[in-house]
Amino acid sequence: MVRGNKSGKNQLLVFISSFFISLLIGVFLLPSCVGPEDRSFIEKYLMPDTVMINGKIIQVDAEDSVAEAIAIRDGKIMAVGSNKMVKKLIGQNTQVIDLKGMTATPGFIDSHCHFSGTSMLYVLDLSYPAVQKIADVQQKIKAKIETMKPGEWVRGRGWDEGKLSELRYIYASDLDLVSPNNPVWITHTMGHYGTANSYALKLAKITKNIPDPPGGTIDRYPDGMPTGVLKESAQNLVGRLIPRFTLEQVEKGLIKIVEEFNKEGMTTVKDPGIGPEKWKAYQNVLAQGKLTVRVFILWETGKTIEDAKRLIDRVGPFTKPYITTGNDRLISGGIKLYLDGSGGARTAWLYKEWNKNYKEVDKGNYGYPVIDPKIFRKQVLMFHNAGLHMSVHAIGDRAIDWIIDSYALALKENSIHGLRHGIIHCNIPTGHAIEMMAEMQKTHDAGYPESQSTFMWWIGDTYAGNFGPERSLRLKPFKTYLDKNIIWGGGSDFSVTPLAARYGLWASIARKTLLGVYGSNPYGMDEAVDIHNALRSYTIWNARQLFMEDKIGSIEVGKYADIAVWNKDLYTIPTDEIKDLKCQLTLIGGKIVYKAPDTPVTISKGKVTVSQRGYIGSAPFMVFALLAIAIAAVVQIRRKVFKIA
Ligand SMILES: [Zn+2]
Repeated sequence: MVRGNKSGKNQLLVFISSFFISLLIGVFLLPSCVGPEDRSFIEKYLMPDTVMINGKIIQVDAEDSVAEAIAIRDGKIMAVGSNKMVKKLIGQNTQVIDLKGMTATPGFIDSHCHFSGTSMLYVLDLSYPAVQKIADVQQKIKAKIETMKPGEWVRGRGWDEGKLSELRYIYASDLDLVSPNNPVWITHTMGHYGTANSYALKLAKITKNIPDPPGGTIDRYPDGMPTGVLKESAQNLVGRLIPRFTLEQVEKGLIKIVEEFNKEGMTTVKDPGIGPEKWKAYQNVLAQGKLTVRVFILWETGKTIEDAKRLIDRVGPFTKPYITTGNDRLISGGIKLYLDGSGGARTAWLYKEWNKNYKEVDKGNYGYPVIDPKIFRKQVLMFHNAGLHMSVHAIGDRAIDWIIDSYALALKENSIHGLRHGIIHCNIPTGHAIEMMAEMQKTHDAGYPESQSTFMWWIGDTYAGNFGPERSLRLKPFKTYLDKNIIWGGGSDFSVTPLAARYGLWASIARKTLLGVYGSNPYGMDEAVDIHNALRSYTIWNARQLFMEDKIGSIEVGKYADIAVWNKDLYTIPTDEIKDLKCQLTLIGGKIVYKAPDTPVTISKGKVTVSQRGYIGSAPFMVFALLAIAIAAVVQIRRKVFKIA
């Protein structure tokens, strides 16, 4: 500060004179002493390499700010603000993306997606709307078999009885009509059950006389004969006979799904439950430079204490969510566990009996845990004590309570902060679970639901039929979460539901089923949230669940330039249009990885401004230079005038 007794008038005079001196220096002196080498230096080290202008930039920062333009340098965001401000930064070599008024958001994140495209490439697609009745399935299998040799396995996936006009399971007898000489295995869209034909049942030695395996169900006719439908662990009886995908097929599948993700403005994923082979495939795809999605993986664990021990020894040393390989593309993040079954197979673990056909009661069926709950709890303690992040699959209210109480026990015994343990699906949490999640998030940074609003839509008709009228209203209670300051992560659980996050945004608001078998809103509207919160659950809150909230999830200075551009403004369009948003452009780390073929967005090289006249590069440099000189001048003059030491 100025010491002494000089008047404010003097100071003003000094400031004005120094300003004019610096202006003179800036305009006449500097340009002459900055040559082409300096210009390239400035371009290289100070200018943005990309700018996005003329947009509506939904930042998803704490204030929910909306800007017009973004400047990017070295893969990270260097400025967000007005067109005027960002345009000033454009240099000769800056790539200029003109958004033509379109809306940009942070790249979408999916916190629960079985990230493999092998099913897209190598498995028969039996999903709606291509399949609407059992005859459609038969026809597709028949056509496939015509291209195969007898004895070769036919694999399919994606059927859902809730979307079949027959509203019933597909049985072996349905498949046998078209596949007498080939084994067939077709999984349900939820992945928790499937149907084998008689050829496959015979290979697996599944007969009237074999008992259900632990944690699984062989669906049977009243006389005990298997129907062909196998649930939960019973699926392995057939699954283990099917040849595994090769490493090359897995890699091709990953490359395929990475493309599909980028096409939907999606840039990051949490892949739950992988093994060493898929990890290898990820590393290979990363090495090929084709992993244009950030991947955070969870390791699959077995069902015994020994399994947990072995896994901790094997992956513990490098499973650290904050430590990443190079550029935050592939992260060994934690452990995935299962506690119960599914809402489609009515195997999830409940306090009250399952319903069926909405109002009927599935007598005596409370579902079940797929692992001994006591062993499960011990595993939770082991992983927690090893400092490992974990997320657990739980659909039923009883399973969710069991997990929450296991987490609470672990935290009580060993009060580690910040492991962010998750509850995957977390469909119908009890009041107790909700209170505990709110508390745990606050005190230990743990207890986060990783939830899929799309369940209410894509499998929503089957779900409503099984959960029944009362429980359906408690499904995915997002509004209650908001009221209790609970944050949650959004996801698709692909291939259970389609992977595009736009469906999840929409479903969080609309809570509508696909076909309206039990009315279009059996889930009610009390737990609906708005687009602002829905968007958070697919961006910044998900970033947190991947330990990356300082790096991604919002458009803020210093974060990676992971950005998606949309044809419509999410914040203003009618809710139903959110489902049909079309991605125009996707950037990851500032690099364009998808551009819609018909987009009006244009990409060009920077406009040459001052530098054309032999001056130095551009307007912003001039501003910086003038400012620096002015400050220097003021300091010098003040030292002389006021004799400041
Ligand atoms: Zn899943």
